[in-house]
Amino acid sequence: MSAKNPDRVVIVGGGTAGWMTASYLKAAFGDRLSVTLVESGKIGTIGVGEATFSDIRHFFEFLDLKEEDWMPACNATYKLAVRFEDWRGPGHHFYHPFEQLRSAGGFPLTDWWLRNGPSERFDKDCFVMASLCDNGRSPRRLDGSLLDQDFAEGAGEPAGLTMSEHQGKTQFPYAYHFEAALLAEYLAGYSIDRGVRRIVDEVRHVRLDERGWIDHVVTKEHGQIHGDLFVDCTGFRGVLLNQALDVPFVSYQDTLPNDSAVALQVPLDTEKAGFRPCTTATAQKAGWIWTIPLIGRIGTGYVYAKDYCEPEEAERTLREFAGPRAAEVEANHIRMRIGRSEQSWKNNCVAVGLSSGFVEPLESTGIFLIHHAIEQLVKHFPAADWHPRLRERYNSAVANVMDGVREFLVVHYKGAARDDTRYWKDTKTRAMPDALAERIERWQVQLPDSENVFPYYHGLPPYSYMCVLLGTGGIPLRPSPALNISDETAARKEFAAIRDKAKFLVDTLPSQYEYLAELRA
Ligand code: FAD
Repeated sequence: MSAKNPDRVVIVGGGTAGWMTASYLKAAFGDRLSVTLVESGKIGTIGVGEATFSDIRHFFEFLDLKEEDWMPACNATYKLAVRFEDWRGPGHHFYHPFEQLRSAGGFPLTDWWLRNGPSERFDKDCFVMASLCDNGRSPRRLDGSLLDQDFAEGAGEPAGLTMSEHQGKTQFPYAYHFEAALLAEYLAGYSIDRGVRRIVDEVRHVRLDERGWIDHVVTKEHGQIHGDLFVDCTGFRGVLLNQALDVPFVSYQDTLPNDSAVALQVPLDTEKAGFRPCTTATAQKAGWIWTIPLIGRIGTGYVYAKDYCEPEEAERTLREFAGPRAAEVEANHIRMRIGRSEQSWKNNCVAVGLSSGFVEPLESTGIFLIHHAIEQLVKHFPAADWHPRLRERYNSAVANVMDGVREFLVVHYKGAARDDTRYWKDTKTRAMPDALAERIERWQVQLPDSENVFPYYHGLPPYSYMCVLLGTGGIPLRPSPALNISDETAARKEFAAIRDKAKFLVDTLPSQYEYLAELRA
């Protein structure tokens, strides 16, 4: 390893993680970095129709890409919330929206709702997004403006903040659904235009130097490829980090048992059928089914635990759920590696994407984790001395974000009132990550806030926990006792304001279909 600045980056893997990394590094460092990406033409990528977090907008902004540039190319639609169906019991649903929770009289509105909410639906009473989802509205008006002044589009925000720096300052009102494979292709074009070298070939060997650092990779047809920093984006295979550098994988399976998925891409006439601007997660006997609306099709899949359900049964359940439109569609069975690599950065190799880690897609965190990792890589990019503290900081940021997301997902299962099958019964007695049991006990007395949720940045604000606990309904909660002797006038006003605003927005916003048709025209 020469004592020069590491300015040659070799990325192995051309899925969403590979091309997001390549494009972001180019946008960050321009020609001061040479970037080569090697991707196999034979080993496929994961691309099931993905949903995202609202923070993804910072990624596109960083690349200076506008919605009209990339959305049509990726069959993208808007996502205002996740809609959970049947988690409490058959026929029940609730939304986890992209919308900050309001407060009244110094208490979160959810406390007031628990004490004396206007209706049975906390999501409709406390957030406007639930009504917009029910009514298929677009978050933008036909002139392109955002739905409401309250949701300031970056107004007053300092430019160039990373998503962790943004958290808590604003809550952007929507995220996207898109085809990850199309996004990867779109970003490949962006990256190649900016000088990234693309090699379509398979990495057969990874050669280490005497210190155990990667010296070069050997491809089937293009010989050796040398670099300074190697980014492992090879998906669940972890060809560089796990296989060549022997970094162990820490499984989350004891707390999150879903390890399999079967996916279908169901054709849909979007204009005729219309579609909700949200991801839907419908609880099933041994897991849950996602429904992700895209332009021209629905991405759907059953995430399940193999200990509770055979793949054939999962496919049968999914086909029944999707109906006759899916009859001719081929099913894609996927085995998921749930957990994270012990370290995501070892020596001169950083894993980004599924090779670094993955939790099941219940809250659409896969691409968020990629985005977070890339931001951290830029922030901790090494110099000639490869200072170990930078790697340590990177590794703890990545481990924390994944552990935090894991904990948030476990709350969904612990909290679900549903207990009609062995799978759902076991969710109540399964092991929990350290400290979660204690946190749940606290939330039963004081609803989640910034001081009593997972303490490190993991992308989920306290109100998200509140939505899941209030929605899934299996953990008894109570409002702050102080409300018994507080004046509720301000809370009543706030509930009324939300109801009026929701009605106004439903009446005046175009449907999501109308807006996207205009954008694509
Ligand atoms: P992959 O897509 O697997 O790409 C791996 C790349 O490595 C490919 O290009 C392959 O050719 C290449 N490769 C492998 N070995 C070699 C080799 N030896 N030589 C050269 N190249 C090689 N995320 C979300 O944000 N929202 C969602 O709703 C969501 N849903 C998901 C549902 C399921 C069932 C699964 C499994 C994942 C989901 N994800 C979701 C995660 C998301 O799809 C992935 O994080 C994302 O696509 C990135 O994948 P990747 O690039 O890490 O890996």
